[in-house]
Amino acid sequence: MTWFKKRGRHDLPWRQTFSPYEVLVSEFMLQQTTVATIVPRFQRWMELFPTLDSLAAAGESEVLSAWQGLGYYARARRLHAVARLVVQEYGGKIPGQLEVLLALPGIGPYTAKALLAFAFDQPVEVLDTNIIRVVARLHNLTIPIDTKEGRRLLEEEAQKMLPQKNGRNFASALMDLGSMVCSATDPKCLECPLIELCEAEEPSLLPKKKPRVATTKRKEQRAFYQRHHRIYLEYSKGPHWKGLWILPLCSSTPTHRDYITSIIYPITRYRVTMELYRSSGAIPKTLTSFSCEELREIAMPSPHRRAVEKILQYHAS
Ligand code: SF4
Repeated sequence: MTWFKKRGRHDLPWRQTFSPYEVLVSEFMLQQTTVATIVPRFQRWMELFPTLDSLAAAGESEVLSAWQGLGYYARARRLHAVARLVVQEYGGKIPGQLEVLLALPGIGPYTAKALLAFAFDQPVEVLDTNIIRVVARLHNLTIPIDTKEGRRLLEEEAQKMLPQKNGRNFASALMDLGSMVCSATDPKCLECPLIELCEAEEPSLLPKKKPRVATTKRKEQRAFYQRHHRIYLEYSKGPHWKGLWILPLCSSTPTHRDYITSIIYPITRYRVTMELYRSSGAIPKTLTSFSCEELREIAMPSPHRRAVEKILQYHAS
């Protein structure tokens, strides 16, 4: 704990008040996104939706628009749904019981336990990537942590380490140690306050995981309609990017002559090459047009926004 007092990341914005709402927002944002990306987005979010009630009262498009740049928009929808449910069912107070939290939309065991530790100061095991790495190394767990047995051992060891109280500082300290000292590729064991307890034989090889499923390449062809400085987009009804504005798929095979540019992006286990084609045919009635100023205000998935910006920049230069 001495190490944490001196070197912990006490300046993170969601560690200032530890209000359950702020912890909830930070945990949803941190799922699959880095701390560095989150910090400015978290501050902006709190300006837009300073309380759980204000988030619950906001419209979906407002929420999705504020989420732009963080990706995985389903998280924004679930966060919004949690806020609405907590206002309706729990008088706007986020509950502090594991079972009740797990019944809320989008709250799995990790997020529920992170809320209990950070917002309610309960001693529970919070197994994020950094803590998993520290626990696996401390106990030299060589079984892949994404197998049933590996996970069971990890949870067991993490629970044995828990203190009687001060769950918040304990989880924060382990998390920061994993991020700053026991890092993935370069563990700084000589600086580590846990070196005397650590059983890791080859720290940089831990934790182990099952071999990864190979990425599959996919190609999609999308149409770029532009008339009188207005861009035409489609309102996505899912399954991906539901409720966001996207470039429409080409209705027929485009010709090479109309090719503009490509964007490559990852989604689930795919690596998608999105090819963009200028479309001069009749504009489908299902599309809606936007000026460049309006485009900044609407919610678009990052690859589609990047594609539009790339085309507009290319033509401006
Ligand atoms: S001694 Fe090294 S491997 Fe062990 S917890 Fe500390 S940094 Fe990680």
